[in-house]
Amino acid sequence: PQQPHVPSSELKICVCVRKRPIFQKEEKNGEIDALSCANPVIMIHEPKLRVDGITKYLENHTFQFDNTYGETEDTKTVYDSSIRPLCPFILQGGTVTCFAYGQTGSGKTYTMRGLQEMVICDLDKLGRGQISFNISFFEIYGGKCFDLLNDRSKLTILEDGNGNIQVQGLVEHPVPNKDEVLQLIEYGNSVRTTHATTSNEDSSRSHAICQILLKNGQRELGRLRLVDLAGSERAQDCISNNRQRRIEGAEINKSLLALKECIRALRGGPGAHVPYRGSKLTLVLRDSFEGGSDEKKVIMITCVCPGHSSSDHTINSLRYADRLK
Ligand code: ADP
Ligand code: MG
Repeated sequence: PQQPHVPSSELKICVCVRKRPIFQKEEKNGEIDALSCANPVIMIHEPKLRVDGITKYLENHTFQFDNTYGETEDTKTVYDSSIRPLCPFILQGGTVTCFAYGQTGSGKTYTMRGLQEMVICDLDKLGRGQISFNISFFEIYGGKCFDLLNDRSKLTILEDGNGNIQVQGLVEHPVPNKDEVLQLIEYGNSVRTTHATTSNEDSSRSHAICQILLKNGQRELGRLRLVDLAGSERAQDCISNNRQRRIEGAEINKSLLALKECIRALRGGPGAHVPYRGSKLTLVLRDSFEGGSDEKKVIMITCVCPGHSSSDHTINSLRYADRLK
């Protein structure tokens, strides 16, 4: 039976899965829906196989997470049990980092875009005109960083003597009202996918990091990071014949593995070793995992495709998420 969704406020790391609907086009092409969700469980059914006239049923895999969202649940439902319960925590100085993980086409960007708008509106309401937003938005592509709100200018990652990581050149835009924040986010999203040299194909090879620092006058409140990760299947490009693909794939593989370890380290509490040097991604997100761990929370939304031909990718994504629990 369907259970109510557990609010993320009760968790340090909230791991959930979202299944997108199957498209008509996919069904026309003979794709079968191989997933069923009953919160907090998700089951992947291997399709029937006819081998030499005999029907074989391959095994089912069942996974359990903090929450699972089926295809009939909208982004608002995802929001209400993931980011929304953490809005007061952000205003009180907490750092919340929300990741969308999954193969290309599984709904990461769709989910992130919805969440971006909902959380900005809620923070604005809770701040009652007292807070301002400082927003930056950048992309990590092939191990290099580009500012999405500043003509895709190239950024350098620097570490100062105190071990503080800085993305040098990254412009942080102070914005007093929510409509301008939403416009900037919209702009950043459009630069990401419509830039002349950046096809959709390329956006699946990049991590997009949207950061919002909340301030009350000069006083820093909390921080929110929304991270739309590179397509998880891209990690396998590291065995491609194409040299460029191989380099990018190796970088993505490295970053997703390092990310898993850094998130797991959050469970270790303050002082736990965080292997953030493992990749550019975890380097720039260091602050999301370190420090007093009571001030850090992570939400992982693993997006999955329903079709049976994606089953291998889906199982890989669910296993990755499972390791974070
Ligand atoms: P990704 O960013 O993981 O590559 P997208 O977010 O671009 O995937 O989603 C792929 C397609 O599926 C898009 O056309 C998107 O609008 C659609 N889609 C994704 N999730 C949903 C959903 N929950 N409901 C309806 N359409 C969705
Ligand atoms: Mg995308």
